[in-house]
Amino acid sequence: MTRASSRSEHDNAPQAGERPGGGLFPLFADLRGRGVLVVGGGAVAQRKTAALLDAGATVRVGAPTLNPGLSAWAAEGRIEHLPGEFAPQWLDEAWLAIAATDDAAVNRAVAAAGEARRIWVNVVDDVEASGFHVPARVERGPVQIAISSGGGAPMLARHLREKLETELDESLGALAQLLNRERARIRRHYPDLGQRRRFFERVLAGAIPALLRDGRHDEAQRAFGAALIDDKPAAPPAGSVVLVGAGPGDAGLMTLRGLRALNQADVILHDRLVSRDVLRLARRDAELIEVGKQAGNHHTTQERIHELMLEHARAGKRVVRLKGGDPFVFGRGGEELEVLAQAGIGFEVVPGITAALACAAYAGVPLTHRDHAQSLRLVTAHLKDSAGDLDWQALAQDKQTLAVYMGVAGLDVLRDKLIEHGRAASTPFALIENGSRPGQRVVTGTLADLAERAQGHRVQSPALLIVGEVAALAQRLHWFGPAPLTEPPADAALARAA
Ligand code: SAH
Repeated sequence: MTRASSRSEHDNAPQAGERPGGGLFPLFADLRGRGVLVVGGGAVAQRKTAALLDAGATVRVGAPTLNPGLSAWAAEGRIEHLPGEFAPQWLDEAWLAIAATDDAAVNRAVAAAGEARRIWVNVVDDVEASGFHVPARVERGPVQIAISSGGGAPMLARHLREKLETELDESLGALAQLLNRERARIRRHYPDLGQRRRFFERVLAGAIPALLRDGRHDEAQRAFGAALIDDKPAAPPAGSVVLVGAGPGDAGLMTLRGLRALNQADVILHDRLVSRDVLRLARRDAELIEVGKQAGNHHTTQERIHELMLEHARAGKRVVRLKGGDPFVFGRGGEELEVLAQAGIGFEVVPGITAALACAAYAGVPLTHRDHAQSLRLVTAHLKDSAGDLDWQALAQDKQTLAVYMGVAGLDVLRDKLIEHGRAASTPFALIENGSRPGQRVVTGTLADLAERAQGHRVQSPALLIVGEVAALAQRLHWFGPAPLTEPPADAALARAA
């Protein structure tokens, strides 16, 4: 029962929950050097103490005994320990108190003693007894966003916090720092509030936030100086391209930075390999253009992709070029950036989880291992035409893992070449189809029967091949999707017997 509902039941006062903000008044308290009492000596008390110390408070922790973390802080002099049972005098010199014991009666006693002395008390997990609530919060440097659900639905507040964490990138902190630093100069330059407001709008709509996002702090500072003396409205933001790695399919493997780029994109040029789950993360009104190159059927040429990027960027659009896995691993990302650099169009690159890393993780294959593999090679081969170009001598060395990106045709050539150059026919392999996706399958065996196994199980693209001793670990360490297929399929066995 909340304080709000108990009050409305007993004295017909308007329900606090009906007031804006649930009847709570938000404030940010400056606790530097101010005394705060925490009652309780366990993990919760420690968590609260840590947050208070971060805010610069002088914390006294009252409890018969302290957990090891709090004891260490007391020994270091970071906090003062008040031993024994709660006594109202503990509140002397406190501005605030937090009751964080696991005994509701003690917590209530702290709340009552605080009330009597007009000291704000928060009782952990007890809305009714609390005079103030500690909000969920998002921090970016000096910027803080505090979220309250009115006390009754902390899960909802936490959910909103997670959303904001994804939405707001770290550069917001740097932006606030810059504006804080320049506050006096801005006021001197624009004494009039209306002017000042227009100046801020110009700065926020211009290049400075993007420069900070790219870690170009000196340039941002210079651009700020220029904006301060230049009263012209900001030029419309120039178009730009963000090359984003979408990862292997599971949308959870996208980076936060990639997600933010998707949220801001006007146009998304994506490969066919990019999964639906990832595309669903895009802004609803973004224009999605598939520029996938299907195996054998290059229905969008690389030149056409370059043209599309240039065309949309030149029209002032924010373009995301979304690629499967990582854009710089067998993704022709380098070529696309060359084109942009040549055309003078700004770009960023957001890495993604490449197929080798994702497939290995989702199949339970550690790519390096103290006993089995000290190095990893990422290889691609359209073996039908380019087998001659590869350094088979190096590829066939043992104590290393090969991660082969390729179509599934040509596995027989690969097997023959590796064995011919000295890799043992008994070397384990794991072939991972649709890695990290709902239809993931893992086929395992030894190099000797690689091609037959793959054919027998009708492995389709996209599939990634791992060759090396570590591949055998999939049998014990797999965790995602169905267990690895370790035998030839039944019909293949029949066919051989016939
Ligand atoms: N830039 C991508 C690779 C593009 S080449 C990356 O970093 O992952 C395309 C090849 O990647 C496919 O032929 C296949 O071998 C591999 N691949 C990509 N996604 C895959 C997935 N989900 N499962 C298995 N293999 C995948």
